Amino acid sequence: MTIDLSPEPHDAADTLAPFRDSFVRDDTVTAYLDGNSLGRPLRASVDRVGEFMATQWGGRLIRGWDEGWLDLAQQIGDDLGRVALGAAPGQTTIGDSTTVLLYKLVRAAVDARPGRTEIVIDRDNFPTDRYVLEGIAAERGLTLRWVESGDPTAETLAAVLSPATAVVVLSAVSYRSGFLADVAGLTALTHEAGALILWDLCHSAGVVPTQLDAWNVDLAVGCTYKYLNGGPGSPAFAYVASRNQRMRQPIQGWLGSATPFTMGQGYEPAEGIRGFTSGTPPIIGMLAMRDMIALIETVGIDAVRAKSVALTEYAVALVDDVLPTAVLASPRDPERRGSHVTIDHDGFEAIMPELWRRGIIPDFRRPNGIRLGLSPLSTSFVEVAIGVAAIAELVGEQH
Ligand SMILES: *Cc1c(COP(=O)(O)O)cnc(C)c1O
Repeated sequence: MTIDLSPEPHDAADTLAPFRDSFVRDDTVTAYLDGNSLGRPLRASVDRVGEFMATQWGGRLIRGWDEGWLDLAQQIGDDLGRVALGAAPGQTTIGDSTTVLLYKLVRAAVDARPGRTEIVIDRDNFPTDRYVLEGIAAERGLTLRWVESGDPTAETLAAVLSPATAVVVLSAVSYRSGFLADVAGLTALTHEAGALILWDLCHSAGVVPTQLDAWNVDLAVGCTYKYLNGGPGSPAFAYVASRNQRMRQPIQGWLGSATPFTMGQGYEPAEGIRGFTSGTPPIIGMLAMRDMIALIETVGIDAVRAKSVALTEYAVALVDDVLPTAVLASPRDPERRGSHVTIDHDGFEAIMPELWRRGIIPDFRRPNGIRLGLSPLSTSFVEVAIGVAAIAELVGEQH
């Protein structure tokens, strides 16, 4: 299949193109290609946050907690579960950072598999996932077993699973390569070994259709500032399948207790997903993601995925054409690829300042990778073309 390399016909045929106007834009940014690090804000969120401060915080003050704020984390969690995760209500909540939620849920999972002494993670997983697990292993006297060889597959995972495996931690989409793992298949494989699995959905939530319930996933966490456009540092989400909600997480705070307002002695966890929360929920931080979740619901996650595939296919075709000396570090098969494309070239680090100066914003991952993060609802094919052309020009390969 050959792809038309001029962007205009792709934008003209794109039924989701009108939604790009729903996002805040700045004329100095000519190509935003880093939606996988920080999604653009929706215009609706600017209004929502301003209106919250003026009338909710400003007007309701402390009464707001009783009038809905206390339930917001679970309410938004349910919306996210329905729209993007394939999770029935009561299993998803918003709060903390992905890093902290990883700690809480992996600690809970390890304790739920007493006698098992190993945690499995892949060597190429995101640093925070690896570091948190190193800490838990040290704290609990466990051994980390590494999937060493690149992206996790049934073969490489099976090689490290054993009756000693307590928990497996993998990313649905690899932050560097963009590899999309077989979440259902690797979950089943983990369960055959009697272990639990936690999926990190940071690079897939909001952009790759996911069926956590149907796939029997045990636990999941993910960011909301990437493809869920929650804003810098917006709180993460945690999914705990109903059958696992008797697990005990280690950060026993008052708002995760059964009776927070009796201020009593002795911690007893709340039943259900609320037992996985700890302290006061970051209300302002979870407002903007509501608009993106609503937009994804309007459009449908399958349509989002279809445009994501079209954008990454287009980016790969352009790179093949104008950047032949760059190495595609992402899978060629769109079925195995998330919504970003990583290309490697030793000249990339040197050109980043000039790209940014021109308002062309991909991101750079050491030692030599540029990631083109293509957030489907806010990115045009023209932006991809501008970005790849500038990269090619700057590394001196324009023809
Ligand atoms: C972005 C990302 C994180 C970030 O975690 P924070 O606690 O939000 O800093 C974690 N894991 C993966 C796979 C990521 O892509």
